[in-house]
Amino acid sequence: MHTFRRPFIVLSAGLLLAAAPGASPTDELRGFTTESAKAQRDWEAKFRAIPSPDSLRAYMRRLSARPHHVGSPYDQDNAEWILAKFKSFGLDAHVETFDVLFPTPLERVVELVAPTRFVAKLQEPPVPGDPTSAQQREQLPTYNAYSIDGDVTAPLVYVNYGVPADYERLERLGISVKGAIVIARYFGSWRGIKPKVAAEHGAVGCLIYSDPGDDGYAQGNVYPQGPWRPRDGVQRGSVMEMEVYPGDPLTPGVGATKDAKRLPLAEARTLTKIPVLPISYGDAQPLLAAIGGPMAPAVWRGGLGITYHVGPGPARVHLRVKSDWGLKTLRDVIARIPGSTAPDEWVIRGNHHDAWVNGAEDPISGQSPLLEEARAYGELLKQGWKPRRTIIYAAWDGEEPALLGSTEWVEAHADELGKKAVAYLNTDSNGRGFLGMAGSHSLQRFINDVARDIEDPETRLSVWKRAQLSAIADASSADRRREIRSEPDLRIGALGSGSDFTPFLQHVGIASVNLGYGGEDGGGIYHSIYDDFAWYTRFSDTSFVYGRALAQTVGTAVLRLADADVLPYEFTAEAATVGRYVKEVEKLLQDEQEATAERDRELDEGVFSATADPWERSVPPPRQDPPPHLDFAPLENAVDALTRAADRYEKGFTRAQSGGTTFAQPGAAGLNAVLIQTERALTVATGLPRRPWFRHAVYAPGFYTGYGVKTLPGVREGIEQRNWREAEGQIVAAAGALTAQAALLERAAAQLEQLAP
Ligand SMILES: [Zn+2]
Repeated sequence: MHTFRRPFIVLSAGLLLAAAPGASPTDELRGFTTESAKAQRDWEAKFRAIPSPDSLRAYMRRLSARPHHVGSPYDQDNAEWILAKFKSFGLDAHVETFDVLFPTPLERVVELVAPTRFVAKLQEPPVPGDPTSAQQREQLPTYNAYSIDGDVTAPLVYVNYGVPADYERLERLGISVKGAIVIARYFGSWRGIKPKVAAEHGAVGCLIYSDPGDDGYAQGNVYPQGPWRPRDGVQRGSVMEMEVYPGDPLTPGVGATKDAKRLPLAEARTLTKIPVLPISYGDAQPLLAAIGGPMAPAVWRGGLGITYHVGPGPARVHLRVKSDWGLKTLRDVIARIPGSTAPDEWVIRGNHHDAWVNGAEDPISGQSPLLEEARAYGELLKQGWKPRRTIIYAAWDGEEPALLGSTEWVEAHADELGKKAVAYLNTDSNGRGFLGMAGSHSLQRFINDVARDIEDPETRLSVWKRAQLSAIADASSADRRREIRSEPDLRIGALGSGSDFTPFLQHVGIASVNLGYGGEDGGGIYHSIYDDFAWYTRFSDTSFVYGRALAQTVGTAVLRLADADVLPYEFTAEAATVGRYVKEVEKLLQDEQEATAERDRELDEGVFSATADPWERSVPPPRQDPPPHLDFAPLENAVDALTRAADRYEKGFTRAQSGGTTFAQPGAAGLNAVLIQTERALTVATGLPRRPWFRHAVYAPGFYTGYGVKTLPGVREGIEQRNWREAEGQIVAAAGALTAQAALLERAAAQLEQLAP
């Protein structure tokens, strides 16, 4: 699935990356003794010499040769092939299966029934020069998984991206979607948010189309001439309400094993409330052109050569969706390298192997480097390398529909993971360009250090330096540029959802990082039949040098986490980051107070009625109660406690590190046992309001953004939803989690001070 790529990757790189001065690799390695650092540097250098672009190309050719969605013959074939590969590298590996609800389409109809007739094609044609695009018999038809079955005929309303702000705009235009079918364009939010918000406003059906302004001809030449979305290209994808809980809808919170207790289908909470289908712009154009009513606001107009109207009607649409709701078998492929000294401390690395169709970019461009890392570890093991900790490599199945493979595996092993997991490292798609780093801020220093040691294949700069320079180029202000130039590390982004890190980070509280290269290879083939070997090898990382860079980056990170004497978490950056989040939510409330007061004043003055064009329908915004003041003191105090503890820990750590041999003392093992629990401390047992599956107090996908992250989610969403009492309760809950982490850090600092008095 992956966060909405293209054309937003450039934007997200700008958000994720920030930077620092010209730090260069030194012999010192955080968490290693002087001696163990030397040995580690040698193993890492050997490791990075192994990944080969030719292998990556061969893996991609094989794994994307046929459609391989969940439950398809080639999905199983790929799982068995990956298993055999792991074994051939000398690794202990097995397939772990789960049985999950995964609907596949039986009937799909979209037709305009008035004022003229038009039947949508709902079919992506093969293109010349692209052999796999012709494998129609095995391709999953274009659809949105987990749409309920339905058969509706209703007037059509255009709702732009279909996010809550778009409906506020519609209300100002005096337009309701009650009883209507809405047509929304892709982008602007995760797709599952569109039918959810439409249903909340009373719509009876939802179409989602790819506008050429977003990822088609307005961006560049379309496939096969160029990389962008052709006229009949369709973005498949899940519309499950994963912001409530991801994974199998029938087994929330537990692994979907053979004998798991399953909910009846009618009780599954995460299916859509109305039927949904995705369509191409070829199919959307006649529908949009038939809509009348007021002109769409200027920023709502896309790249089609038509006048965009909002409706409702006179266009009437018939939408029919029916799926096969059977259980399908998932196949996660799991390889394990047992740790020599600390086998009960696990470093976990994953990427999914299932795709919507052939999926060369999504996910095979990330899966191939994972395999190449595993091959390299096999080589190192033969040369005598013995990792200190256990390393687990996972090729997940069923990520596309609902993070199924990773979620079910995490739920099935949650207790053990809670005790043993050190970190989870995720990748999904990979392309050309800049290293994107996002994740737990306790790993910010660590992943920056790794990035300083990886060479960019095009510029020969370190990938860290290139990311820093790109962050400077993208910075929005002189202040921001000053920070980027002066801070020791690039700020990493926070994780929302959209890939397999979610169950690790947000359900169990395992420090996680998501990595990938991108920003230079735009395109519009996401989740279509054209995301295949022919497209990837013409328009993306054609020489697979960024695939090699990804294997070197993630592989080095895993190697270093697995071998460090003391786990290399760093907490001062986390404390500073959370401190900024607290300032953000305080400002959010203040902005809301000011906006409410201003709006009420303008209503009193008659601004809206006096400035509205009397020839057009316009409704003034509703009056709202002024937001109260909230008591942020518990959060402020918790951040202070965390900052003090992080500083004390870091002082002790620096002293111990400079001691050269301190981390080799037997007491270091006890220190690791405390450190391993630090991210877990950030979880709240009762979870977030209305979605207890999500337990992390600092990071969650937004209830109304989907993939997009909400930091301090309980507090932030309480304010956004104007639920003041809940926001106040969530301030206390988040403060409790931060205080618990601070207490653990004080304990860890005391242990360090005993090691190096
Ligand atoms: Zn993916």
